[in-house]
Formats: sequence, structure tokens, C-alpha cells
Amino acid sequence: MNAEIIAVGSELLLGQIVNTNARFLSQHLAGLGIDVYYHTVVGDNPDRLKAAIAHAEARSEIIIFTGGLGPTKDDLTKETIARHLGKELVMDETALASIELYFKRTNRVMTENNRKQALVLEGSQILANDHGMAPGMVLETGGHIYMLLPGPPKEMEPMFLQYGGPALSSKSGSNEKIVSRVLRFFGIGEAALETEVMDIIEAQSNPTIAPLAGDGEVTLRLTAKHPDENIAHTMLDDVEKKINQRVGEFLYGYDNISLLQELTKALKKRNLTVTAAESLTGGLFQQELTAISGASSVFKGGVVCYSNEVKQHILQVNQETLEKHGAVSEQCARELAENAARILAADVGISFTGVAGPDELEGKPVGTVYIGIAVKKSPTIVEKITLSGTRDAIRNRAVKFGCYFLLK
Ligand code: ATP
Ligand code: MG
Repeated sequence: MNAEIIAVGSELLLGQIVNTNARFLSQHLAGLGIDVYYHTVVGDNPDRLKAAIAHAEARSEIIIFTGGLGPTKDDLTKETIARHLGKELVMDETALASIELYFKRTNRVMTENNRKQALVLEGSQILANDHGMAPGMVLETGGHIYMLLPGPPKEMEPMFLQYGGPALSSKSGSNEKIVSRVLRFFGIGEAALETEVMDIIEAQSNPTIAPLAGDGEVTLRLTAKHPDENIAHTMLDDVEKKINQRVGEFLYGYDNISLLQELTKALKKRNLTVTAAESLTGGLFQQELTAISGASSVFKGGVVCYSNEVKQHILQVNQETLEKHGAVSEQCARELAENAARILAADVGISFTGVAGPDELEGKPVGTVYIGIAVKKSPTIVEKITLSGTRDAIRNRAVKFGCYFLLK
């Protein structure tokens, strides 16, 4: 089956917001084995929306709308679809009751136009909105499946995951279960990874293997279909094994887990604490670490040592090191990591020093990065890497590399 996504909203056309709904839905539809052929964006205008629907009907089986289900005058998605299909809008008592409850819970007065949000297309299956008011809908008619979802991502995403996706799977008429798994890699480029596993990708149609790159990481999404869910999982295990024989050393985690989350988990498991001495990254590692709930059990604190004075006076880096080798050096990274771990009484110390740009430093080119890792009772390791890109990109990727080296 194929699908088209119609995002409704003038803010999208004006460039005020980005169409993240289309991205989210495309990614998840791929996981359900549904091909997305078109993304359409149309403003809050009934005539142009009608034209977009007609266009979509001529080329797509499933048409998914997001936006325009709210209570205000410019929200006209379902009214326009109803008129287009010659269907009535009827009051859904369950949705109305949940809207009333929503107002009661949030201590607000319900205005009349909020009732409008409980009007649904006659004959449609309702998708409950657990994070807002307007319910979603699925209607199968005239050889097409129409799905209506709210615009706000925090309402749309959970609604699709919990109700929308399963409704599409069951309507696709097959009894096959679709399971997917995302393998997350770091330290290998997209092109290199694809070259390594290209023959496996090409030889497979079930499970399918879809590569995706972003933010210095590469992922492979494996999707298997089988009437027996357990067998589908075994099919995923088998293909994962084949992939790991080639590039397993770069695999760090699964599904939505980030490098930092994986690191936190690994430290917790081994009962270790970490501290950081951050020059290049100015606290980015610590900021990202503390964004993870539960980080306090592995992290007590660290130092942002941007200037040489702080490196020398707080973290006790030798003056000679700074004079002879500079702050961007293997020696400095080593002392920063070891001294931070000792002074802050942590089991593991990590340091970041380097040149983020735009100008070179100490005669060292932009992108030169040293990451020191000091672990109690083990020899300290300093990794030198060369990164390219903007100042932000270099700092962000340095943090990821740091996590990756720690995980190794
Ligand atoms: P509401 O009840 O909030 O009015 P709605 O279903 O009527 O919801 P819209 O009014 O079209 O949806 O959009 C509400 C908000 O949802 C927008 O201001 C925007 O922040 C977000 N939004 C809408 N469409 C998209 C989209 N395609 N991608 C990302 N965000 C979106
Ligand atoms: Mg709205």
C-alpha cells in the first residue's frame, strides 16, 4: 500500500514552522511497510485543500491529514473532507465527554466552539487523543483510507503510535505482524557502513534494511513481516547477526537510545562515576549528561576549563605542559582527565581539548581534537581525532566521540 501525507496549515507555507509531522509519519509508515509517495502542504483554505484531496485520491491509497482539527475558525480540515466526500459530521459522545473532562481537569470553562472538536466524520473509526482534545479519525471509503490527525506533534505522535499505525496495519488486509528494530552505529560513516553491508541489503526484501544518517551517527532500520510475531523477531535476530559480523564493532545501541543514555546505563551497571574537564566543549558533555534522568547516580560534577588559567590553577595542569605542548595537545588532555578524576574523586575522568574554529589555535588547524580518558587503575588513553564542519558541529561530534570512546 502507498500513502500521501497532507499537512494542513498556513504557518507551514509561511515558513513559521517546519513540517516535522510529515517526517515523523514517513519514518513510521516505512516501519509499517507502507510506502510514502507524496508529501503535500496546503494552507488553511478550503478550496485549495479540496483540490489537494482530489489530487491525492488520483495517486494514493492512504491519505493522512495533519492539522486543522482544533476549535478555531481556521481549522477546517474535517469540514472540508466531509463536504468533499458527501459525509455528515456527527457528534461523538465519547470524544465530547473526554473534552468536557479535559476542561474540568484543567479548571477552565468550556466554550461552545470546543464542542466542534467532538464532531467526527460519520462512519469513521475514532482515534482517542490522550494528550489533547480533538480526536483523530480513520475512514475507509471509495477505495481510499483517510486518516485525520491533529497538528500539534505532542498530540499527533502518540495518537499515531498507539492507535493510527495499528489501525492502518489492520486495514491493510493482511494478517502479517510487522516488527522493526533500529541498530545505532557510531564511528563509521554512512557510505562506509553501506558499502560493508550493501550485499546484505540487496539480498533482503524481508526483513528490509533501511540506512539513515544524521548527526554523525548512522542507523539501520530492520523491518520484518510475518504472521507469527516471534518468527518475525527471529528474522530480525538473524539479519542483525549477519550485519554485526561485518560492522558490529561500531554498534552501540538500539532504537531511540542515545550515546549518552547508553553511557549512563553502562556506568550505572558497573557502579562507576564520571567527571569531565571540558575546554573545547565548554560544558556540553555535562549538559547533555545531566539532561538524562538518573544521571546523578553516575555524575557529581565537573569543570569547564576554557582558559589556560583554569586548566592550570583549578585542574593543576603543569605550566610546562601548557608552554611546551599547548592546551591543544595529548599531554594536556591526559593531565586534564587524570587530574579531574583525582580532584573530583570520580572513577572515570574525561577531557575535551581542541580547536572548534573558526580560527586555528596554537598553530593547530580547526577540527583538531584530543579526548583524554582516565580510568582508575588503568593506563590513561588519549584519542586524537580530526573533525570537520562548523564550530557547533565540531563541539557536538566531539561529545559523541567522547561517549563512544568511554563505551569502548
Ligand atoms: P489545535 O487544536 O492546537 O488548533 P489543530 O489540529 O487545529 O490543533 P493546527 O491548528 O493546524 O492543528 O496546528 C496547531 C499547531 O500544531 C501549530 O501551531 C504547530 O505548532 C503544530 N503543527 C501543525 N502542523 C504541524 C506540522 N505539519 N508539523 C509540525 N508541527 C505542526
Ligand atoms: Mg488549530
